[in-house]
Amino acid sequence: MTLFSILLTSIFCSAVALAQQTPQSLADAELPSLLPIYKDIHSHPELSGHEERTATLVAKELRATGCQVTEHLGKYQDSKFKPHGVVGVMKNGDGPTVLVRTDMDALPVHEETGLPYASTVTTNNDEGKEVPVMHACGHDAHMSMFIGVARSLAKLKDQWHGTILFVAQPAEETGNGARA
Ligand SMILES: [Zn+2]
Repeated sequence: MTLFSILLTSIFCSAVALAQQTPQSLADAELPSLLPIYKDIHSHPELSGHEERTATLVAKELRATGCQVTEHLGKYQDSKFKPHGVVGVMKNGDGPTVLVRTDMDALPVHEETGLPYASTVTTNNDEGKEVPVMHACGHDAHMSMFIGVARSLAKLKDQWHGTILFVAQPAEETGNGARA
């Protein structure tokens, strides 16, 4: 290999390395593994204050990115709700602290999309009435993007310094999860 071709190769490789780290290419890289997570969350919706399975999934995914994870965070005034808040801390040296949040609860809505991963879930609501449940507000997408952001920032640790707080909030639809 000539010096020129070595130089050319190294320039090309740096260009490829840079090109691999545009927001679009980072998103493209995560999409195939995030879609099954999205569909899993979508087909297993949980009502506000009952996000047990969802919170466990989010905590597991945050842990896999190297975050220090705390589960069951929060306290409701009404003790019939168990706290399902999740916080992941991604530390990467000195620097600013940035909060990234998602919400986790679904709605008492009947899904009529006909999608293969459509929700068929029904549950008893807090009044004891059987209701259908669906992620009709996009929290399934929020969580998938949230996990994608955590994975991407973990991969880019040589390009930023500081602390990221990944907060997964329960009971957004009813308004009491943030306070809890
Ligand atoms: Zn919502």
